[in-house]
Amino acid sequence: MIRLRIAMLFSVALATSLPLAAQAPYETTEIADGVYQFRWQNHNALFMVSDEGVVVFDPIEVEPAGRLAREIMRVAPGAPIAAIVYSHSDADHSTGASALLETMGQASAPIIAHENAVAPIRARANPDQPLPTVTLAERLTFRIGGREVQLHYLGPSHSDNMIVPFIPDVGVAFAVDFVANDRMGFQDLPGWYFPDFFDAVAGLLQIPFETIVFGHGPAGDRATIQRQIAYYDDLTSAVRDAVDRGWSEDQAAAQIRLAAYATWNQYEAWFPLNVRGVHRWLSR
Ligand SMILES: [Zn+2]
Repeated sequence: MIRLRIAMLFSVALATSLPLAAQAPYETTEIADGVYQFRWQNHNALFMVSDEGVVVFDPIEVEPAGRLAREIMRVAPGAPIAAIVYSHSDADHSTGASALLETMGQASAPIIAHENAVAPIRARANPDQPLPTVTLAERLTFRIGGREVQLHYLGPSHSDNMIVPFIPDVGVAFAVDFVANDRMGFQDLPGWYFPDFFDAVAGLLQIPFETIVFGHGPAGDRATIQRQIAYYDDLTSAVRDAVDRGWSEDQAAAQIRLAAYATWNQYEAWFPLNVRGVHRWLSR
C-alpha cells in the first residue's frame, strides 16, 4: 500500500477570513513518486512531474486551475506544463486550461483529449475551455522526461469520450465520473451509455494499475474496481427483477434497496436515482 502524504492543507488564514459557505478547500497529495492528486472541493485533478515538465490531467475549472498552477509551481518550481489532458468533455472537469497556463506564465501547451470530445467542446464555445490540439481514438502513449503516459479509451461510459490516463512507472490510473471509491453512480446516471458502460468499468482491470485516482472522492485500488463491478451487477439484477415483475420506475425507486451498499457514499441520496437510471435503460 502506497502511503499517502498530505502535502498541503487549506490555508488557515484564508479559512478563518471567509464565511463557511465561501470556503474553497484544496489539498495536494503525493499519490506516488512525482504523481499528485489535487483536490478542489469535491473535484480531483492529477498531475505528473518529470524532468522535462508536468503533465496535468483535468484543469477542473478556471478558479481551481489557478490554484492548481500555484500548487504545481510549489512542488515543481520552474517546471513547465508539458501537456494538459482532458479526461472528457464535461465542463466541470476540463475547463481552465488557459487559466492554468496564464498563471504559470506560459503561452501554450498541447491539449490532449478523445476525438469525440471536440464536438461538445466546440458547441459550448467557452473561451475558458480551449479545444484539444491533439486527439486520440483508442490509445495514445507518449513520454515526457523519461516517464511514460498511456491514455486508454475504454468505449462509451459516462460520455462517449472518457479516457483513462495510466502512468506505468508508478502504476497509477485516473478514472473520472464513471467509477469512484465505494460511492454510488452520479444521481440518475445522466449521459451514461448502457450497456457499453459495463464494458468500460470491466476494461479498467485490463490496465495494470495498482492505485486509481478518481475525479471525485478518495483514491482506490484494484479491489475498489471489483466492488464497483459488483455494485453495478447487483443494481442491474435488482432492477431487472423489478422490471420483470412489472414495477414502474417510481415503484422501483421507492422499494429497491441493496443493504450491502448502504454504507457507500451518497447511498441515501443517489441510490434511488441510480435505480431510476437503470430502470429507464431496461425499459427502453
Ligand atoms: Zn462528467
